[in-house]
Amino acid sequence: MKYKLKKKYFVVTFGCQMNKADSEKIEAVYKKKGYKKAKSLKETDVVIINSCSVRLAAEHRVFGLVNNLSKYKKIKIILTGCMLRYSREKLKYLLPEVTQFLKIKDLVKDIKPLRKDKVHAWVSIMEGCNNFCTYCVVPYSRGREVSRPFEEIICEVRELVKKGFKHITLLGQNVNSYKNNFAKLLAVLHDIKDLEKISFMTSNPQDLSTYIIRSIKLPKIDRYLHLPVQSGDNEILRRMNRKYTAEEYLALVKRIRKEIPNIEIGTDIIVGFPGETRQQFENTVNLCRKAKFCVGYISKYSPRSGTAAYNFKDNISFIEKKRRWRIINKLINKIN
Ligand code: SAH
Ligand code: SF4
Repeated sequence: MKYKLKKKYFVVTFGCQMNKADSEKIEAVYKKKGYKKAKSLKETDVVIINSCSVRLAAEHRVFGLVNNLSKYKKIKIILTGCMLRYSREKLKYLLPEVTQFLKIKDLVKDIKPLRKDKVHAWVSIMEGCNNFCTYCVVPYSRGREVSRPFEEIICEVRELVKKGFKHITLLGQNVNSYKNNFAKLLAVLHDIKDLEKISFMTSNPQDLSTYIIRSIKLPKIDRYLHLPVQSGDNEILRRMNRKYTAEEYLALVKRIRKEIPNIEIGTDIIVGFPGETRQQFENTVNLCRKAKFCVGYISKYSPRSGTAAYNFKDNISFIEKKRRWRIINKLINKIN
């Protein structure tokens, strides 16, 4: 009897939880095509790179990986994810070793994810973003905000719970602006029997309503809230097109802590935004002292073509960005 060896695939994921969730769908696509998961890049027939475009460094990692892969002549390289915001001509020019460029939406259309974890599941509730923060590529790479129908999400979670899942994380660039009522979604999901924990990310401070805070109080909702502040200086926040002031953010944190005493709050911060003076950076340090974050994801500003801030002069040196990064990292994450 002739034994036909199955072709193997390997997925490499860069970036945020959304990409990780998408990669579970990519796995399902290849399983359905009859491929077997490769144990390493060396033994794979096809590698699918799910890219991130939020910072230049993330794109550089993709270039490095493609360069390494091109040593293995027979590997087919597929690029998907946020770098597909660039035109195909540009991608072909920059990455001639890549066999195919595929938009994530076209790659994972109508497929259920192949979930690795049997207890926790990612559930996307919305895609894209309409906020156009001046530094950010997301509205271009993921497109405008589209919310999934309420009933569809409830059905998906009920199915997951039937299969034994106990913990879900609702995903979206800005879950608070979920069109079909995020507070209600949390409340309805909360009532699903045998579901033990509900987490969600990311929350934009400008859309965190009193109703949502009330829903977070429900016992099954995670006591960790990710609330990116980005800066503690009002002028920088304005130039970032964030719709709140440092005072409003701190008042919100205070209100959340009062309503939900055991809540922990984490954040994202960008240091070295164009024109950020030492005093403006100090304002961010002061906000961090007051907000008492449990964790902070700190980024050095990275100019992204196509965004509004790309036209601002990136005038803070890399060394200075690094210095500011270290100060905030030490303050929030207690790491040198
Ligand atoms: N939707 C989330 C953020 C998504 S992008 C929010 O509203 O906060 C994830 C994080 O990457 C951002 O919070 C920001 O801190 C960082 N980031 C985005 N663009 C960046 C850039 N051009 N340079 C440096 N960091 C950036
Ligand atoms: Fe980017 Fe701002 Fe949208 Fe977050 S809210 S994804 S930072 S544009």
